[in-house]
Amino acid sequence: MLTKAPRGTKDILPDKVGNWLYLENLIRKLCGQYGYREIRTPIFEHTELFQRGIGETTDVVEKEMYTFTDRGNRSITLRPENTAAAVRSYLENKLYADTNLCKLFYIGSMFRYDRPQAGRYREFHQFGVEALGESNPAVDAEIISLAVQFLKDLGLKDIKLLLNSVGCPKCRPVYRQRLQEFFKPVIDEMCDDCKSRYDRNPMRLLDCKNEKCKELAQDAPAITDCLCDECNDHFHKVQEFLTAAGIE
Ligand SMILES: [Zn+2]
Ligand SMILES: [Zn+2]
Repeated sequence: MLTKAPRGTKDILPDKVGNWLYLENLIRKLCGQYGYREIRTPIFEHTELFQRGIGETTDVVEKEMYTFTDRGNRSITLRPENTAAAVRSYLENKLYADTNLCKLFYIGSMFRYDRPQAGRYREFHQFGVEALGESNPAVDAEIISLAVQFLKDLGLKDIKLLLNSVGCPKCRPVYRQRLQEFFKPVIDEMCDDCKSRYDRNPMRLLDCKNEKCKELAQDAPAITDCLCDECNDHFHKVQEFLTAAGIE
């Protein structure tokens, strides 16, 4: 046991560290070019931050969090992603005071208590960007073009961009209801996870990995048919900006 790393973790050995540095340098350079500044938040946070920040009915919060009680009897969670902590830090440190648009990026270890045999690690590495304080569609387009540029810089070709919208608190309930109507006749044939998602978070019926569920979800209504005028306008502007930037 003393000569074995914990389940779901992996050493990065000296002969591979160069690859990691190459990737990390590329990320830092690219984010810098786009005006994103690095933020480093703690590896762990109060559990409530993720419960409220990610959403209590997501897989991450329901079954994948690496949570423990510390010696002061506080519930602590190793960060499963970095958005919630970045927003927490933005508010706590009043980063909004300097600028209307706060552009941040992060890179580091994240933790999820996942089944390692699915090819996933319990400690994994993630980079991401956050643009806070501005709802302009140009910002969405900028983040997407950063992601596309990153893949191109890595030498990947034939990149295909698929775009969707998650709507807003105004139009999402409409879509929720349409989904429930659509799934109502077939929900009994779906897996147990989906049965419990039906009431609590029907949008998640769309990303079940179960073959039978996937099949039943194939002809589900699309959110893009339920967007409110504002979201629809926003969604089309994002596409216009991307087209102008030469991204299909
Ligand atoms: Zn909307
Ligand atoms: Zn399912």
